Amino acid sequence: MNSYDVAIIGSRPGGYVAAIRCAQLGLKTAIIEKYANLGGTCLNVGCIPSKALLDSSHHYEDAIKHFEEHGIDIPGEIKVNLKQMIARKQAVVDQTTGGIDFLMKKNNIDVYQGLGSFKDATHITISGEENTEIEAKNSIIATGSKPSNLPFINIDKERIITSTEALKLKEIPKHMIVIGGGVIGLELGQVYKRLGAEVSVIEYMDRIIPTMDSGLSKELNKVLKKQKFKINISHKVKSVERVGDEVIVKADNKKGEEVEFKGDYCLVSVGRRPYTDGLNAEAAGVKLNERGQVEVNDHLQTSTKNIYAIGDVIKGAMLAHKAEEEGVFVAEVIAGQKPHIDYNLIPGVVYTWPEVAAVGKTEEQLKEAGVAYKVGQFPMRALGRSRASMDLDGFVKILADKTTDEILGVHMVGARAADLIAEAVVAMEYRASAEDISRMSHAHPTFAEAVKEAALAATGDRALHV
Ligand code: FAD
Ligand code: NAD
Repeated sequence: MNSYDVAIIGSRPGGYVAAIRCAQLGLKTAIIEKYANLGGTCLNVGCIPSKALLDSSHHYEDAIKHFEEHGIDIPGEIKVNLKQMIARKQAVVDQTTGGIDFLMKKNNIDVYQGLGSFKDATHITISGEENTEIEAKNSIIATGSKPSNLPFINIDKERIITSTEALKLKEIPKHMIVIGGGVIGLELGQVYKRLGAEVSVIEYMDRIIPTMDSGLSKELNKVLKKQKFKINISHKVKSVERVGDEVIVKADNKKGEEVEFKGDYCLVSVGRRPYTDGLNAEAAGVKLNERGQVEVNDHLQTSTKNIYAIGDVIKGAMLAHKAEEEGVFVAEVIAGQKPHIDYNLIPGVVYTWPEVAAVGKTEEQLKEAGVAYKVGQFPMRALGRSRASMDLDGFVKILADKTTDEILGVHMVGARAADLIAEAVVAMEYRASAEDISRMSHAHPTFAEAVKEAALAATGDRALHV
C-alpha cells in the first residue's frame, strides 16, 4: 500500500493548490479526484468556462452595438455561432485542466482517479477503474460544492437547468427565467442576454447581489435595466413547471400577488451546497455541521486532528481564491509553519460588464458595528479613459475610518473593476489611509484613476475631476 504525508481529496482550486504547496514543502503528496479531468468546479464548470462565455458574448455585443460608432463597418450580418462559442469555451477548459496535469507531474504529486472514501482516520479507499487503498498521515478534504435547489423544483437538466447545463446549451433561449439574482444568475444571464435572449431575473431578497454593499446592488440594477434585463426583486418563487418546451414559474410578489413567468429555459441559481457524498467522513470521525459543511477550527482542522478541510466544503465565501488561500494555509500548518489568512481581505467580484468588485466592510456592516466612517465616491464617467472606451457606468467608493482615515472597505462597479480591486487589497493589507492612496501617482488615462479620485474624495472632498 502506498503511504503519503498528505492525501488531498478533490482537485481544485483548493485541492491542487494545496498539493503543490505540500510538495514544495517536501511532503510526499497524493491527490484524489473522482472525475477524469483535474480542476474541479472552477476549471470545468465554474470560473473558467463562465468567463470564456462572458468574453465571447461581450465581443459579439460590441460588434453589433458599438463597432459602427467606433468607425468599424462589417459588411453583411453579424451572427452568433453558438456551437463554435461553446467549442472555444471547451478548448479553454481543456487547455487549463491540461495545465494542472502538467503541474502535478512537475511537482511529483501522485494522482489517483476515483471516489475517495475514508476507511478510518489514516486510510482512504479509492474506487475508480481499479480499487485502491492508500495510507495518509494527514488528509485535506477539498470536495467543494454542488448547486442547491428549492425543494419543489425538478431540475431536468434540459429546460430547468443549473449553471453546469447553462454553460453548454445548444440553442440561445428565447426567454430565460433566472431564479436567484446572485453571481451565477447575473453572469450567465448576461451571457444569454447579449446573445439575444430575453432574461427575467427573480430574486427573493429586496435587491440583487444582496450580500454586497447596497450601493453596488443599486448601480448594477440600474445598468442591467438599461441593458433590458427584467429584474423582479422581493419575489418568492413557489412553483416551477415544465409543459412541453415551456417552463412556467409562479412567484408571489411583495404584495402577496401571484405573478407568472413563461419562458423556454429556467436557470436555477439559488446558491451552492457543500459536497461530501461518498466521502464517508464519519468513518474518520470528521463532523459536519447542520448546514452539511465540514466543521473546522481556526487551523482549518476538523474534529479529527490529522484531517483538514478547505474551500466550498467549509464555512465562508464560496470563491476559488479563498479555497486557494486555504490550500496554501493548510499545507503550511501541516509543515509546522504559522500562516495567516485575513478573511476580511478576500475580494469578491461579479464578472458582469460593468464588473462589480469589493473588499472589506460594506456600509451596512459598518453601520451595524457602530463604526464612524466617511465615504469618498467617484463616478467612472468623469474619467477620460471611460469616455475613450465608452464604459461610462459605475463608480468607486472608498469607506474610511472617520478618525484615523484607515481604509475599511472599497466597493466598485465599472470597467475592469475585477482587476482594479487588487490595489485596494494591497492598500488594506498594509493598513493604508485614504490619504495614502490619494498621494500616489496613478497612470493617466486609466480606470485606476477613479480609485485615486475616490481616495481624494474620502480625504476631504478633494476629488479633482468632478
Ligand atoms: P471544487 O472546485 O468544487 O472541487 C472539488 C473537487 O472535488 C471536484 O472536482 C469533485 O469532483 C471532487 N470530489 C468531490 N468529492 C470527491 C470524493 N469523495 N473523491 C474524489 N473527488 C471528489 N469563484 C471565483 O472565485 N471566481 C469566479 O469567477 C467563479 N465563477 C464561478 C462560476 C460558476 C458557474 C460556478 C458554479 C462557480 C464559480 N466560482 C467562482 C466558485 C468556485 O468555482 C468555487 O468556489 C471553487 O471551485 C471551490 O473550490 P474547491 O476546491 O473548494 O472545490
Ligand atoms: P449566490 O448566493 O450568489 O446567489 C443566490 C441568489 O439567489 C441570492 O441572491 C439569493 O437571495 C437568491 N435566492 C435564494 N433563494 C431564492 C428563492 N427561493 N427565490 C429567489 N431567489 C432566491 O449563489 P449563486 O449565484 O448560485 O452562486 C453560488 C456560489 O458560487 C456563490 O457563493 C458564489 O460566490 C460562487 N460564484 C462566484 C462567482 C464569482 O466569484 N464571480 C461566480 C459564480 C459563482
